[in-house]
Amino acid sequence: MKLTFCYYGNPILRKKGETITEITDEIRDLAISMIDYFDNNNGIGLSAQQVGKALKLFVLRRYIHLPDGKWTTSEPYVYINPKIVARSKETWVEDECCMSLPKLYLPVERPLKIKIESTNLEGHRIVEEIEGINARVIMHENDHVNGVLFIDRVEDKYLKLAEGKLREIKKKYNST
Ligand SMILES: [Zn+2]
Repeated sequence: MKLTFCYYGNPILRKKGETITEITDEIRDLAISMIDYFDNNNGIGLSAQQVGKALKLFVLRRYIHLPDGKWTTSEPYVYINPKIVARSKETWVEDECCMSLPKLYLPVERPLKIKIESTNLEGHRIVEEIEGINARVIMHENDHVNGVLFIDRVEDKYLKLAEGKLREIKKKYNST
């Protein structure tokens, strides 16, 4: 499937995703194309909104910490109709970035651990407990499928500093 990538300023990024009622060939094709897309563009995850589809679907790879201190990434995961059912009180702050907001890095506070329910590509409903960076990636993508961007969670003082850059991104990547 050929995908059209959507940048900040595109109204589709603000749309709440529709629930997926059936895992059709089209959904499978979309998920696989999305994985290809982020793999080819230095991404770790991607939501359907970012390729112009307002659906409750996102894909990602997980970071795996190796014994020698280096990192690698896991096989891809597909999240259909995700729902975060629990969030830890404990939070942590880390810079985030987003393929729809190129070259913008801003600190976001998020819970350290989450419990998430989702359906995989085989149609099985799964519950997982995830923490740290992988929980952060899931929350970032889960926000996308609800029409939320990471800049919505950035403290005003940091967002103010990024105003010029945000305007620039809007102008550069949206022709109208
Ligand atoms: Zn993003």
